[in-house]
Amino acid sequence: MTQRLLFLGPPGAGKGTQAQRLAAAQGLLHLSTGDLLRAEVQAGSALGQEAEAVMARGELVSDALVLAIVRSRLEQQQAAGGGGWLLDGFPRNLAQAEALGQLLDELGQPIQLVVLMELDDAVLIERLLSRGRADDNEAVIRHRLEVYREQTAPLIAYYRERQLLQAVEAAGTVEAIEARIAALLT
Ligand code: AMP
Repeated sequence: MTQRLLFLGPPGAGKGTQAQRLAAAQGLLHLSTGDLLRAEVQAGSALGQEAEAVMARGELVSDALVLAIVRSRLEQQQAAGGGGWLLDGFPRNLAQAEALGQLLDELGQPIQLVVLMELDDAVLIERLLSRGRADDNEAVIRHRLEVYREQTAPLIAYYRERQLLQAVEAAGTVEAIEARIAALLT
């Protein structure tokens, strides 16, 4: 059974929505670094204060910071008896992917599947504009798409080479996309 997976794709592709549904259906731990960072900002923690301005500009917060968040959650889960997980929005660049690989080697929990959600830019921008989040104004959206192309898109080749990648067309209804993803699980 597929128990350890990543969702990859541009902002607005629907990773969060699909990750939430799949994690609930399969009993997986859903780790969204964006959600965890927004919770820190909301709580006004030192970590949140460090991340807030960077997030508002649509840039990536430091690798060390997100890695520490992911490491602590995965270690907690393992200490509590283990289980599957779904990473959403992490890794975002090659350095994070390498660091994640090392962490998962340590934990003895290799990735089984990387789901790439693909969607046209025009649809992405339209979806993001209708979402109304603090970092969803048009200039910041364009910048986030650029950051995705420059820093995150290289992960497509990285995971394809490792024979972990499967692409899904992320257009259509939530249910249709959900069914496409479910069909990739074994
Ligand atoms: P998201 O909810 O995934 O769109 O993330 C919102 C924002 O949080 C991003 O634009 C980044 O500023 C930050 N963020 C989320 N995940 C990461 C990550 N893995 N590495 C660096 N920054 C991240």
